[in-house]
Amino acid sequence: PDRDVAVTGPAPVPDRVREFLSRDHGHYIDGHWQRSSDAAMLESLNPATGRHLASIARGTVADVDDAVRAARRALTLPAWRELTPLARGELLHRLAELVDQYADELALIESLDNGKPMSVARAVDVGTTSKLFRYFAGWPSKFEGSTIPLSPRNNLEILNYTVHEPVGVVGAIVPWNFPVSMATWKLAPALAMGNTVVLKPAEDTSLSTLRLAELIGEAGFPPGVVNVVTGTGSVVGAAIAEHPDVDKVAFTGSTEVGRMITRAALGNMKRVSLELGGKSPHIALPDADPVEVAAAAAEGIFFNQGQTCTAGSRLYVHNDIYDDVMNALIDRARNIRVGPGTDPQTQMGPLVSSRQLATVSSYIDSGVEDGAVVVAGGGRPVDLPAGNVDGYFLEPTVLVETTHRMRVVREEIFGPVLVAMRWNDLDELVEMANDSPYGLAAGIWTGDLRAAHRIAGAIQAGTVWINCYNLTDPASPFGGFKQSGWGREMGRAVLEQYTETKSVWVNIT
Ligand code: NAD
Repeated sequence: PDRDVAVTGPAPVPDRVREFLSRDHGHYIDGHWQRSSDAAMLESLNPATGRHLASIARGTVADVDDAVRAARRALTLPAWRELTPLARGELLHRLAELVDQYADELALIESLDNGKPMSVARAVDVGTTSKLFRYFAGWPSKFEGSTIPLSPRNNLEILNYTVHEPVGVVGAIVPWNFPVSMATWKLAPALAMGNTVVLKPAEDTSLSTLRLAELIGEAGFPPGVVNVVTGTGSVVGAAIAEHPDVDKVAFTGSTEVGRMITRAALGNMKRVSLELGGKSPHIALPDADPVEVAAAAAEGIFFNQGQTCTAGSRLYVHNDIYDDVMNALIDRARNIRVGPGTDPQTQMGPLVSSRQLATVSSYIDSGVEDGAVVVAGGGRPVDLPAGNVDGYFLEPTVLVETTHRMRVVREEIFGPVLVAMRWNDLDELVEMANDSPYGLAAGIWTGDLRAAHRIAGAIQAGTVWINCYNLTDPASPFGGFKQSGWGREMGRAVLEQYTETKSVWVNIT
């Protein structure tokens, strides 16, 4: 097929990446590459051109069985089970070093496959990936149990202590918005705690994870400790969620699929952790600087083409500064350079797929039908390079005259579409901010820290940013209130999700 790497912008594609893209990619199972049981393949398209980028295996239930069997066996391998905590940490460090060594290549693969600007892929996706492996490399030797003072009973003196053990085989199912780093959010703590993993990347963006699997082998993880099965959610994802020999499923994706996964996991009562959707309020108080708010609001929604679970997609601006903020914001939105991710000038790339473009566009239509007014963007950019006219591009879009009855305000759009609203009264503002089934994140802009902390305390969200937005760190817990998820990722908090706690009673009378 016509492999599409030439027309994606001025950045040259190195031969090694070209060779990687030209392979027919199989699954990574038990330390080697294998085709699907029925040899079926899937196409991965370049969203900047709409043309063929690479071929990946379309996994089957039998492939998932193979991967789970390999992961289960790896749990018993002395090379994994008996590895000292320090040695497990060293493997994770080695992997972080390899990610850094091949960072440019991984970023280019991510940008070509997902559409995002190279600068974002390099700094955010790949940068986060190596930081995560490094951060979790420190934990195996530090996640301690406790000794617990018990009240004596039956004249017995008891020593009671707890130990943390791996959960077992972890099934990880991840989305396409930050492909390799979302995979790592799960891989790094799972491996640090001694589990083995069957990982399913999203069907639109599997390539960076496949390259990561090569690096995992090169780092020296024993065969079967990490397995990657590519393919569709309805076959591969569902088979992992249902599998009786998978002990835990860790999922990031939509709330709707999160529900299906939870139901499927009931069969063997596997542990479930979920990072789901959001519709995060981004709030400006009357004393905030309108230009600063406009810049933050634009970055909060248009970063990663709006395909960010924490996107600040509902903007609430105090009436006193509303006009000034909106004028500055509209100006910014209209001046964002939209183009292929591999062009260094690009600030916003295409959406990930034609399906996503259609979904987001239909949300804009529904907003207009419901009475919202488009004040920036709303359609396809007109000045795209000739090679990119079939790419899945959308202008940065701002809607005003929106109300909480509209779907554009209530539902997650997962694209570069901001809805803006005015507010006057702080209690009403908090009520509006919390009037959502989601509770992932919120942002507050003000110099009045007393008000900021009051709002932070009242808002139902797993993360609150005050005078900053969209910052994350491997050391800080991340997750959602309400329908935004179950459990926390990153930080010490996530270690509980990848371990079972055993309480041991010793009669020392
Ligand atoms: P999605 O739920 O459609 O897909 C996510 C993954 O689940 C993919 O790998 C997909 O193949 C798989 N899948 C689909 N159907 C399945 C099924 N029936 N059983 C098992 N697996 C299945 O989500 P998406 O469109 O890829 O990603 C966007 C969503 O992810 C948004 O809602 C976004 O908010 C959310 N997200 C959340 C976070 C977070 O940390 N909270 C981070 C990123 C994205």
